Amino acid sequence: FLEINDVHKSYGHNEVLKGVSLSVERHEVVCLIGASGSGKSTLLRCVNQLEQINGGEILIEGDTVTGAGVDLNRLRRDVGIVFQSYNLFPHMSVLKNIMLAPTMVAGVKDKDAKAKAMALLESVGMAEKASAYPDMLSGGQQQRVAIVRALAMEPRIMLLDEITAALDPELVGDVLEIVRELAHDGLTMMLATHEMGFAKEVASKVCFLDQGSILEMGPPQQIFENPQEERTQQFLSRVV
Ligand code: ATP
Ligand code: MG
Repeated sequence: FLEINDVHKSYGHNEVLKGVSLSVERHEVVCLIGASGSGKSTLLRCVNQLEQINGGEILIEGDTVTGAGVDLNRLRRDVGIVFQSYNLFPHMSVLKNIMLAPTMVAGVKDKDAKAKAMALLESVGMAEKASAYPDMLSGGQQQRVAIVRALAMEPRIMLLDEITAALDPELVGDVLEIVRELAHDGLTMMLATHEMGFAKEVASKVCFLDQGSILEMGPPQQIFENPQEERTQQFLSRVV
C-alpha cells in the first residue's frame, strides 16, 4: 500500500534519513522504534509531505507522492497524522474541531459531518464532551479527540507519532486501547513509539531506525526476542 524507496532527507548538512526503504501493506501496523533523533518523526512527516525529501521516492498504491504536481489535499485526506502534542484548535469545541476538515476540505455536509463526528466520539467514549473546549479536557481526552479528528477524514492510512509520549502514565492506556481497536478493525498504520510492550502487541512489523537508517526490520517476535544486530540489542536493553 505504502512504499518508501531509498528515501534521503537532510536538514542543511545534517543527513537525517540515509536511504530508508520499507513497505506497509494494507491492514498492516508498522512500528518505528529507535533512539531519540534516529529519524522516526522525520520519516512520518515525509510520508504526508510535511517535509520534502531530497532523494528516493514514496508511493501510495503505486502513485508517487513525492514528485512534482502531487495533489497535497488528496494526499492529506488519504493519510491521517496525529502528533505527540494534540494540536486541537483551542477556540473551537470538540465537535467543531472534528467537523472542520470534513466540511471545509472534503465538502461533507454539516449534518453528515456532525453525525459522523458524534459516532466517532461515541466509539472512544467521548460523546458527552462534544461541546467542551480542548482546554477543559485532560491530555488523554484531547489525544482521543485528535485521533477522532484524523479518522473523520476516513484516511486510508494513519501515521501516529508518539501519541502517548506527552501523557501521564495513567492516561496512556485509554489512548493505546483506541489504537489497538483500530488495528483490530484493519486500519493501516505506521507509528513511531517508545512503548515497546505496545509495539510488540500491535505491530505486524517493527523497524529499528538507527541514525537515519533502518538497521533491522521484522516481525515483533524477531526484533524483540531475537534481534540480530548488536545496536538493536543495546537499544532494547536500555528501553525495555
Ligand atoms: P524522538 O524519538 O526524540 O522523537 P526522532 O527519531 O523522531 O526522535 P527526528 O525528530 O526525526 O527524530 O529527528 C532526526 C534528526 O533530525 C535530529 O537530529 C533532529 O535534530 C533533526 N531535525 C528534525 N527536525 C528538524 C528541523 N526542522 N530542522 C533541522 N533539523 C531537524
Ligand atoms: Mg520523534
